[in-house]
Amino acid sequence: MSRTWGGEGGGGSPAATAGARPDEARRHNRAALLRRLHVEGPCTRATLASELGLNRSTIKAVVDGLAEAGVVTEAVPTQRNGAGRPSLMVLPEPSSAVVLAVDVRVEQVAMSMVGIGGQVLGRHSWNLHHRTRTPGEVITHVAESAQLLSDELAVTALGAGVSVPGVVRRDDGFVHEAPNLGWKDIALGTRLASVLRMPVQVANDAELGALAEHVRGDARGVDDLVYISADRGVGGGVIAGGRPLRGTRGYVGEIGHIMVRPGGRPCYCGSRGCWETEVGEAAVCRALGLPETTPRGVVVAELRSLATAPLPGPLDEFADWLGTGLVTVVNVMAPELVVLGDLFTALPPAVVDHVRAVVHERSLVSRAVGGTRIVTSPLGRDAKVVGAAELAFEPVLGAV
Ligand SMILES: [Zn+2]
Repeated sequence: MSRTWGGEGGGGSPAATAGARPDEARRHNRAALLRRLHVEGPCTRATLASELGLNRSTIKAVVDGLAEAGVVTEAVPTQRNGAGRPSLMVLPEPSSAVVLAVDVRVEQVAMSMVGIGGQVLGRHSWNLHHRTRTPGEVITHVAESAQLLSDELAVTALGAGVSVPGVVRRDDGFVHEAPNLGWKDIALGTRLASVLRMPVQVANDAELGALAEHVRGDARGVDDLVYISADRGVGGGVIAGGRPLRGTRGYVGEIGHIMVRPGGRPCYCGSRGCWETEVGEAAVCRALGLPETTPRGVVVAELRSLATAPLPGPLDEFADWLGTGLVTVVNVMAPELVVLGDLFTALPPAVVDHVRAVVHERSLVSRAVGGTRIVTSPLGRDAKVVGAAELAFEPVLGAV
């Protein structure tokens, strides 16, 4: 079965519906076939026919058209099953449809050119400091780096996806607030589209983390999951019923501002005792006995050094707060899987075990499902850039 992940145009039933106009049906079948190859990888025409519910002559017509356009190639499989003529494998041609993926983090911008099928063709990143973190400078640098990558690889991106740690309006990529970048009311999508001269989609970083895990991470085949992003702040991305949950205008997922400690530390959002004041990067530093401004690399190294050591008391308390917030998340969303991303991927296994125990003890939902699965992200720091690429591919796959 070909999985879809909420593309505005191409999601839905894999095969064209009866009664559709022939050109619409062709476009739909082409997009469904490309999506299948992009997400699941190469396969035979026979597999495509059975998975997409199309007859072999329709598959042949679509594959032949795509091969003629250079979007797919066909090859004899290396492993053969049984005797007889081998069925040809259909492979996406990565450089035939390329997108630009940009992950704007608090301390760094990471970019990739990604080909159809998910292959990273080229990467570039640079560090941000307070003085180089203005939107204008980031936009200029993204445009220059995109041009360099494009020239080096001799490819032209068909669209761009951008991850931002902030509150983003999905229609036009307007960033209302990205407090840890110091950005407020920035027309990022419009400005980037104008300098990159391609369609640009901007989304919240946690939403893209969830998308990445759903399409290419541990959550493949999981229809209900919550991804927790953990940088300076904490956010959540949700896949519900196999599709991204976006809420009004895309503003879903500010779970870092669930109040867990009434009267606790003040939060920039105007409240006190928000979850992220107890489990964000500053809280991790405090639990490790480090200054709150400790560089990320040092924090990660310190966490990893505790992988096999007994947990220090403050880190045990940190695990308790992490579990406390997750109890609410699990009770409200009933995810099958919770993926802990970013900084949380460096947490010692004992902390993650403690979190699992807290959630299981205190969440009705977790007990009802026999224990909600909680894992650290296999994609790690790449999750946002992978998600940004998938975001950019959604319209591209329908248009190639
Ligand atoms: Zn808050």
